[in-house]
Amino acid sequence: MKLIFLGPPGAGKGTIAARLSEDEGIPHISTGDIFRANIRNETELGKKVKAVLDAGDLVPDELTVELVKDRVSQPDAANGFILDGFPRTVPQADALAGFAPVDKVLNFVLEEAEIIRRLSGRRVHKASGRTYHVLFSPPKVEGKDDVTGEELIIRDDDQPDAIKNRLAVYERQTAPLIEYYKSRRLLTDIDSAPKPDHVYAAVREELGLS
Ligand code: ADP
Ligand code: ADP
Repeated sequence: MKLIFLGPPGAGKGTIAARLSEDEGIPHISTGDIFRANIRNETELGKKVKAVLDAGDLVPDELTVELVKDRVSQPDAANGFILDGFPRTVPQADALAGFAPVDKVLNFVLEEAEIIRRLSGRRVHKASGRTYHVLFSPPKVEGKDDVTGEELIIRDDDQPDAIKNRLAVYERQTAPLIEYYKSRRLLTDIDSAPKPDHVYAAVREELGLS
């Protein structure tokens, strides 16, 4: 099962990808998580991309493609993977078709007002990437990760100005991928408005999983 989760920031791709990955034993490959881990560990890559992520712009295609090419060639991805947040541009999609063609693209659909509500309430456990929402998916103890008890943070790119820019970048650079994959008969829309359990059930049904 080789999948792409497409959709605007905040649509709930990461939340669903984490569950599917755990239940099906295929890796959840989030380019955003990989970049953030590099920033946290102050690697060369991390230093290069920090300002880009903080502003909500896109990391150059060449860099991102190399990263994903390397990741999907790892043994744990041999039987399948979930790409979350990649591809985000047509050149990235063209490159992916050359080294790891996918079976299906799920397009997470959510209206803008709800996207903004989700992004502005998102809280993250930095070390693991575990994601919460202050209203829709709160941690057991306010501001603390359920598993480690450590502080939750607000991502720099979930601040209002960066959110606005990311939505514009999505419309301009990533939304064209909807037509791209539709014309290749790979795309299915998933309504992301319902609660996570419902969205997850719809995804499993679409993938033919019981
Ligand atoms: P979200 O979960 O809000 O959709 P991500 O975690 O996927 O955000 O991405 C965070 C940031 O990482 C993006 O705003 C961008 O700067 C960078 N990034 C992630 N994936 C890509 C990609 N495929 N191409 C270029 N930049 C990317
Ligand atoms: P993406 O990976 O698409 O950027 P996330 O999975 O990080 O999106 O979700 C964005 C925010 O919305 C998080 O705070 C998450 O807890 C919350 N969220 C995710 N799915 C839902 C849902 N179906 N209903 C309400 N809130 C959700």
